[in-house]
Amino acid sequence: MNTARQGRPFFFNPGPTNIPERVLKAMASPSMDFFAPEFMDIHRYCHAGLMRVLKTEQRLFIYPSTGHGAWEASIVNVFSPGDLVLVMESGFFSERWATMAEHLGVRAETLPADWDQGVTAEALQARLEADTGHEIKGVLAVHNETATGMTHPVAGYRKAMDAAKHPALLMSDTISSLGSIDFRMDEWGVDVAVGGSQKGLMLPTGLGFTGVSEKALAASKQATLPRKYLDWRTLEGREPQDFPGTVPVHMFFGLNESLHMLEEEGLEQVFARHTRFGEATRRAVKAWGGAGEGPRLFCQVPDRLSNSVTAVLMPEGHDAEALRKAATRYNLSLGGGLTRLAGKVFRIGHLGDLNEPMLLGALSTIELAMRTAGIPHASGGAEAAIAYLADM
Ligand code: PLP
Repeated sequence: MNTARQGRPFFFNPGPTNIPERVLKAMASPSMDFFAPEFMDIHRYCHAGLMRVLKTEQRLFIYPSTGHGAWEASIVNVFSPGDLVLVMESGFFSERWATMAEHLGVRAETLPADWDQGVTAEALQARLEADTGHEIKGVLAVHNETATGMTHPVAGYRKAMDAAKHPALLMSDTISSLGSIDFRMDEWGVDVAVGGSQKGLMLPTGLGFTGVSEKALAASKQATLPRKYLDWRTLEGREPQDFPGTVPVHMFFGLNESLHMLEEEGLEQVFARHTRFGEATRRAVKAWGGAGEGPRLFCQVPDRLSNSVTAVLMPEGHDAEALRKAATRYNLSLGGGLTRLAGKVFRIGHLGDLNEPMLLGALSTIELAMRTAGIPHASGGAEAAIAYLADM
């Protein structure tokens, strides 16, 4: 076995993702005064560009933070102590968002679902119809659950809320979908969209942001949870926005470049590329599954299969960490299973700066790693992906 480290590392984690050369070069620039007109041009372009990616013409607030910071902003700005939110169970990330809400003094009720199925719009509608006193103030839904490789029907959830004539705010985490899978904040009636820089936007971790509807902005004027660093009322101070401290100018140099890349390719083409890569990956996994002896797709709902990340369920009695370890020896990094899925699944991140040779290299290397680690599987996964891609 080759355990050397020649050649390029293959990075297929579902975040952070590969950072394109163009972005890396743009970030390797001297510092700039963030009030200088040259920087203000970059700042304004980034602000407007990110709103185009979110498909919103309402409001946007950007924070120097991880995605957790944007989650926190989504809670502290619109709720008051003791408010009730309804969290659509999707996996590790819906649990984390709910836990955070509770830590901040909000009550979080989970609408339960199996992680390989997700909550239906009908279940949401039924729960909201039962809430005749409109105690629920927010519905929290992770658009793309990175832990399970499932994309949830946010537009369908909005329809369910409207059908139930329920006034709660719709909040959607778009951290592992934005810039990879279509997300339409205004059309889908999302009141708070939560995003981060390190996935489809192809940047390092370090910027969190929230798209904010006029309705959510109005709610923020009444909300009484303590807040300072992430307070929209402060951030509204300057155009395009104020910052809670020094502006992270290098993150904006990178964002400026990645938004140009997305706009040059065209957002719809970016989504089409991710759809192709998602399907090619799934074809490979299905081929590895063989007659049932090999790994299989974790997500069990065909029209919810994610085009940015695939969670692969290991055959009974085999440890996903052994496979990940074997892959690492070949310089291929894959995502692991989180909490209750630890050891049971591995995750292939196929989002961001990616082309066919990279994807096929990763799929072939997963097959190689399965052989070395003695994981039962049928061969032919990479061939299945090639056959599909060649026809597209
Ligand atoms: N939400 C989703 C769907 C995620 O995938 C992640 C991170 O992977 C987060 C939230 C948290 O983001 P961060 O790790 O940047 O705080």
